[in-house]
This record gives sequence, structure tokens and C-alpha cells, in this order.
Amino acid sequence: MLRGFRHRLLRAAAGRLRSKTVRMRNDAPLVSFTFDDVPDSAYLNGARILDDFGSRGTFYIAAGTCGKQEQHWRVILPEQVAALHARGHEIGAHTFSHVNVQLLSARGMRAEIRKNEERLRQLCGDIRIENFAYPFGDLSLPRKLQLQRHYASCRGIYEGINAGRIDLGLLKVEPLYGRVADADPLASLLDNVVRQNGWLIFYTHDVAEAPSHIGCTPALLEAALRLVQELGIEVVTVGEGLKRIGRAPKIASTAADFDCLEANSAISS
Ligand SMILES: [Zn+2]
Repeated sequence: MLRGFRHRLLRAAAGRLRSKTVRMRNDAPLVSFTFDDVPDSAYLNGARILDDFGSRGTFYIAAGTCGKQEQHWRVILPEQVAALHARGHEIGAHTFSHVNVQLLSARGMRAEIRKNEERLRQLCGDIRIENFAYPFGDLSLPRKLQLQRHYASCRGIYEGINAGRIDLGLLKVEPLYGRVADADPLASLLDNVVRQNGWLIFYTHDVAEAPSHIGCTPALLEAALRLVQELGIEVVTVGEGLKRIGRAPKIASTAADFDCLEANSAISS
């Protein structure tokens, strides 16, 4: 029981403590569409719809699960990951085996990062994986600090619009779940993004006519893209979003880079 309490306390601390804060310096509001895990329908339907709108998305992939049949979907095939990258979509990282980062030691976390990146490089060539999403949205403070040093940004499932001073260790999101009948709140959400000159990051999983409870229909994705287009808001990948807010992705690959990166963000934010 004490262990469970400690676990909840650590998770709450990790969610509340802003550990990689920067001030956004974007000229205009931004919207991103992100996909977690990634079901093959997010490739077959999601990426196709984004392409139709001339937009690109960010797909957070757990490379160790590619091609597997999960409870709600089949995970994207290795060749589909390569095709996504070739079509200009951003490949982001989950953990290699989709393990919850709360269950990992620092060493275990490093192994998951390395295996995922090696596999994604095998599939996509010399690719830089710059952005991460926490599997299940779960995090702990030690793993958050570790991941935010390695990746330019980490995205959770805490809801809200990114605006003003934000935490690159835990970017906020809004779910894009359900059917087109659920699209009503989107307009006011997008009004808020414009008013706050913010960055709205949608996230979903499968994109199917009969989606899971954490997916959406093709029609809902199209409706969201149409609204964004009508408002003249730019759709960006997460990597592009970091450039627009004046925080171009910089990957720390050595201990010296880590120090430099942290010093820079402390000085300039
Ligand atoms: Zn996931």
C-alpha cells in the first residue's frame, strides 16, 4: 500500500514539475496531428487523409511491436514505417517494446531508446528521432529527466493547449477520439488556440470506420483538418512545431551536449 502511494506521489510530481521550460516564440498559432503506437489504420487512413490535405503528422512508434496483432488493431508494418518516413511524415519514438517508462531503471530506459532507434534506422535509413511520447502517458520524474535530455521534446497525455511558457519534457495534448458527431468542441478549442497564439497537439491511435475508444473515424480527422484549414492555422509535425516556437530540435548525443543543451534552455527561456 505504501508502495502504491509512493508510486502515485512520484507520478503526480512528474506531471506537475515543469522540468524543461521554454517560452514559445511562434508568429502564428499551430496545430499538430500525432498518432501513438501506431495502428496500421493510422497509416492506411490517417496518413492518406493528411496527405490529401497537404499536411504531415508525427507518428510515435514502438518498433518492437511492428506488425503485431494487438487487442484493438494490427500495429503498423515495418515497410509502412519506411513509407511514412519517405512521404515526409515525422517518425517519433515510444519505447521499443511499448513498456511503461515507470517500470524502467535508467539503464533499462537507455536500452529501450537504443533498440528503438536502431530498428527505426534499419527501416528508414539515417533518420534522426527527435521527439518522444510516453507510452500510456505514464511517467516518473527520473525517467522524465532522462528522456528530456535525450529528446528535443516528450509528449504526454495531459490535456491542454501549449501556450506561453511550456514544458518540453511534457507537451500537452488534446485527444482526437470518436466520430464526426464528437467534433463540436473542436471549433472552440481552435478558437482558443488562435486567441492564445498557442500550439494544439492532437493525439489519437487508430483511424477506422469503427474505431477503438482511443481512436477516431476518418470523417472526424477530415473534419478537424478542414476546420484548421478554414481558420488558416498551419499544420506542423512536432519537429516543425519546435522550429516555429524558436526551439529547433537539438539532440544531445554526448554528455557535453547534454550540459550545453540544458544551459542553453536555462539561459534563453
Ligand atoms: Zn502507446
